[in-house]
Order: sequence, then structure tokens, then C-alpha cells
Amino acid sequence: MISLKKYLDSTWEAAPEEAPPEAAGMLPMALAAYGSALVEMGACSLDACPGLGSGMKQRLEELRARLNPAMTREAVEATDRGVQEQLRDWGMLTARHYREKAKEVKELLLVMARAAEGVGARDQRCAGQMNQVTERLKRIASLDDLTEIRASIEQSAAELKSSIARMTEEGKAAAEELRKQVSTYQAKLEEAEEIASRDALTGVRSRLCTESHIESRITAGARFCLVMVDIDDFKRVNDAHGHAAGDDLLKEFAGELRSVCRATDVIGRWGGDEFLILFDCSREEANERIERLRQWVCGDYTVAGKTGAIRLRLDASIGLAEYAPGESMKALVARADAAMYACKANGREQGDGGPETGARNSSDGATQRAGVVTG
Ligand code: GH3
Ligand code: MG
Repeated sequence: MISLKKYLDSTWEAAPEEAPPEAAGMLPMALAAYGSALVEMGACSLDACPGLGSGMKQRLEELRARLNPAMTREAVEATDRGVQEQLRDWGMLTARHYREKAKEVKELLLVMARAAEGVGARDQRCAGQMNQVTERLKRIASLDDLTEIRASIEQSAAELKSSIARMTEEGKAAAEELRKQVSTYQAKLEEAEEIASRDALTGVRSRLCTESHIESRITAGARFCLVMVDIDDFKRVNDAHGHAAGDDLLKEFAGELRSVCRATDVIGRWGGDEFLILFDCSREEANERIERLRQWVCGDYTVAGKTGAIRLRLDASIGLAEYAPGESMKALVARADAAMYACKANGREQGDGGPETGARNSSDGATQRAGVVTG
């Protein structure tokens, strides 16, 4: 569990004059690191349980917003206690949520077991009726009177027919009931799977789901490319306009990614401001498509700020890696990541400003620095 307590004990307990000179700069750094850890915890809580994670993320964000180097020790400790409480509550709620989900699956299994039991009981009833008919047929064999034999055969045939009709009806009703139950549960499972496969904030695929798409392409030996997209200086948007504006920008950006990509492309949020896209094509084609994507997603955005709409210019760094047969997912992602970072470093060397300055993009959206690096 992350705790500031130990750090505070060693920093605030010591008299300022006894503290080494570098200690003065440590508190803002520690608070910034703690704040980042809270943001990451919020993001992880969303991945772990999309249904409950957004509330947790929001509350951690509120606690993070309280952190500043000028606050008193008591205030920092109170914030720290708040975080511990949130984590405990979230842990309990998540455990309850998954217990309920497990209960639903158990119910489905019980429905199946009851249906199987019903089929068994019906079969037993049918077997009993068949036995009666068999007994009657045996008795017919010992009869001498032809009229009596005929009457008895007719009665047996009628009984046989009605019992077969009953069996068919009962079978149909049982199958229909079972079909209804299964489709109800199937719909519930599909809904749960759909929620779990989406990133709650941006609506694109979650990291877990993106990973499984990559794995299935690797297993099938398919030809595909990974595109890693990372917003440049995104943290500055958070710092200047607050996390809600940052969230808004992430949503808008993901929306632009979706509109420029094809329905068959997989777009996922890899974490924070990083997105992964899978293109089912060669590196040459992917390079061409990325150029269009870059021009589409980089440029001006309008997001909701604390006091109204804010216009921001956004740039992104993009890295591309084509899957090499036999390569692991980790190695492939690492190549795309390295290519994206090379692209970022390349841009930084050109030394332009942040998104606020608008120096990264010309007004037609053609970026001055972001290019595409191929890994
Ligand atoms: P770079 O140009 O090197 O990519 O810098 P950057 O500022 O874009 O990237 P960095 O990795 O330093 O910071 C990403 C920040 O994104 C850190 C974290 O506070 C923030 N973040 C992560 N998840 C979320 C989120 O869901 N919402 C918001 N608003 N911010 C988030
Ligand atoms: Mg970034």
C-alpha cells in the first residue's frame, strides 16, 4: 500500500535546520509522485472492474487535487487516510460485485442442472409408459381370441401414439424453456463482456481486450501492424486546466481515432494518454494510413474547462511495428513503443513548445515535429 506516512515521519519530524539542503525540494517531488500513483491506481481500478472503477477514479482524483506542497502535515495525513479508506471501500465493493457475478454464473449452472434433471425424469416417465405397452404386448401373445387380440393391439397402439405425442410435447416445452434461460444468460454474459472489453473513459477497447486481439493474430500467424500513439505533453493539459479537461481531451482524441480508422481496425487504450491500433495490413500500407491518421487526429480540439470551453492544439507521436513471425506480443509492443519514443525524441530535438503554444502543428494540421517512426 502506498503511504506518505513514512516519508512525512522522516521529513517533518526532523527540524528544518537539521535536514539536508536537498530535502527542501523532496516534498513537492514526493507529492507529485504520490499524485501520479493515485491517477494510475484510478486507471487500474477501471481496468480491474469497469463498472465500479470510474467512481473510484473520480474520488482518487479529488484527493489528488488536494495535494500541494504548502499544505499542513495534518492535511496530507488526512488525504492519505482518505486514500486508504477509498481503497478499502473499493476493494470491498469490487469483491461484492464479483461475488454477485459468480452467483449469476452459479444460477445458470443450476438452471442447466435442473433442465438435465427434468429431461431425466421425463425419460423415466416415458420408459415407464413403454414398459406398460411392452407388458400389454406380451399379454396379447398369450390371447387366443382374434377379436380380443385386435382390440388389445389397437388400444396399445393408441397408448403408444399418445405417449409418443406427450414425449414430443414435453421435450419441446423443456427445450424451449431451456433455450429461453440460456439466451437470457447469454445476453447477460455478452453485455458483461462488452462492458469489460471497453475502456470506460474513452469507449475504445480496454488494454486487456487489445492484448487478446494481438494474441489471436499472433496465434493465427496473421500479418498485421501495431501502431502506438501517444499524446505529446498531455500532462500540461491536466496541470493547466484540470483533470476533467484532460479526460475530455482523451475522449475527444479517442473519438477522432475511431472516426479515422476502419471498422475492422482494433483501437485500444494502452494506458494514460497512450493508444494502440492494430492494422491488418503490410507495413507499407500502414505507413500510408498512419500519415492520414496523424493529419486527422493532430490539430485543434475544444474541451470543457473550469470556466468554459478551451481551445487546445494537440500533437501526438506515433510509432509503427510490423509483426515479425515468431515474435512475442511483449517484444512487438516494445518495438512499437520504442518507435513512438524515437518519434517523440525526434520532435523534441526540434525544440518546439507544448500544446498551449500551438507550435507543433501548422493550422492545416500538418505537424512540424511529429512524424512516424517505424520499429
Ligand atoms: P510526453 O510528451 O512525454 O508523452 O509527456 P506527457 O505529459 O504526455 O506524458 P506523461 O506520461 O508524462 O504523462 C501522462 C499523464 O497522463 C500522467 C497522468 O497524470 C495523466 N493521466 C493518466 N491517465 C489519465 C486519465 O485517465 N485522465 C487524465 N486526465 N489524465 C490521465
Ligand atoms: Mg504523452
